Amino acid sequence: MHTIRVAIDGPSGAGKSTLARAAAAALGYLYVDTGAIYRTIGLYVRDQKIDPGEETAVAEILPEVRLELRYDVSGGQRMLLNDRDVSEVIRLPEISRYASAVSALPVVRAYLLETQRGLARKNHVIMDGRDIGTVVLPDAEVKIFLTASAKVRAERRCRELIERGTPQPFDEVLQEIEERDFQDTHREAAPLRRAEDAALLDTSALNFQQSLEALLKIIRERTDL
Ligand code: C5P
Repeated sequence: MHTIRVAIDGPSGAGKSTLARAAAAALGYLYVDTGAIYRTIGLYVRDQKIDPGEETAVAEILPEVRLELRYDVSGGQRMLLNDRDVSEVIRLPEISRYASAVSALPVVRAYLLETQRGLARKNHVIMDGRDIGTVVLPDAEVKIFLTASAKVRAERRCRELIERGTPQPFDEVLQEIEERDFQDTHREAAPLRRAEDAALLDTSALNFQQSLEALLKIIRERTDL
């Protein structure tokens, strides 16, 4: 089957997940949040008390990790780690740091590459991450680089954390975002960058509905839907 693949990359907190999920629901595509997959590996590494920068130690435990993606009735992606639903715990700020650290390891990226490609072979997908348009699906029909200023992203993250009942001071959140941006764009393995043929969508001045419309417009234009 010829599938349509929409690759969305961009820095953390740009609204990729929420927008990609809504766009997938509007189009009837499968939504794949690859950040959740890296977060799940990060969680396992933390639970095993392993240093996420130790590539050999992380490589050793990878075969123990059984990942499963499931979808709830509203199309939300659930992450299962060795049969345990970890969808909520992987969102903790501590796990963001572990995810960022393990995702810099080539062994982890190589391990997850085929899983991600396999999902896009069987379904029309909207996949979001950092290297989807550049590495995972370099021949995707649609590529979008979704971004917003660090300040706007920190404001959005603060609101999200309040809603989850785990509020954090703005300055801390901004600092974390800037650190993660730096780590994600400066690592050697698949650094975050805009693919040459990716459409740029900056949502700093847009609300959710406007961002979604802009996103769907790009997808429709590039797929003739
Ligand atoms: O998107 P999210 O913030 O959930 O991703 C968590 C971490 O996983 C990011 O900081 C990034 O380092 C890493 N990641 C990645 N490649 C992807 C998706 C996420 O390196 N495709």
